Amino acid sequence: MSTAEQDELRAAICAGANSLHAAGLAPGKSGNVSVRLDEGLLITPSGVPYPAMRPKDIVGIDGAGSFRAGQYRPSTELPLHHAIYAARPEVRAVVHTHSPHATALSCARRGLPAFHYMIAMAGGPDVRCSGYATFGSEQLATLALRALEGRKAALLANHGVVALGADLAEALAIAAEIENLARQYLLLLAARLEPVVLDAAEMQRIQAQFADYGRPQ
Ligand SMILES: [Zn+2]
Repeated sequence: MSTAEQDELRAAICAGANSLHAAGLAPGKSGNVSVRLDEGLLITPSGVPYPAMRPKDIVGIDGAGSFRAGQYRPSTELPLHHAIYAARPEVRAVVHTHSPHATALSCARRGLPAFHYMIAMAGGPDVRCSGYATFGSEQLATLALRALEGRKAALLANHGVVALGADLAEALAIAAEIENLARQYLLLLAARLEPVVLDAAEMQRIQAQFADYGRPQ
């Protein structure tokens, strides 16, 4: 990949992270964004507020997992991003947020059932919540991968959300939709209404339709 292409990706990561911040999906300095390279990855730095972040602040991690001196430190969730790219060859971007409604649900260690057809956007008939592990740990990466099996999103217990995409735009869109769905689900629960869950056959039809989107006719 050329330097110009990498610069473009750094700018896209910066813009994407700022869009999460502007939408209220990444309170404080929470959340992180990465994109896979042919070898290694680019990831948001640790502890830099999004509005102050510049494309040059995005941290490059080489194929061996090391980063060059003189850069900011990478996000503390680097092990999570690494584990996802290693286990899921189709994934080219990872977005992690502490978006409020999805995080609230994760604190009850509950996932999202098929109460709305948009759940299929995450690749299956539900969005699971992982088991709990300390942020930044290898154990969290392991538990997240388990919850992500066959899915493009999962909640992380007492923590937040992780969303995957074939590109950055998809991972950002899924992260935003998970927050939207979690908000709707919490509204239902708060109204003490019983969600009517769509059956497996309907969710499969919807997944097939989603898979067709964007393909040439
Ligand atoms: Zn986090």
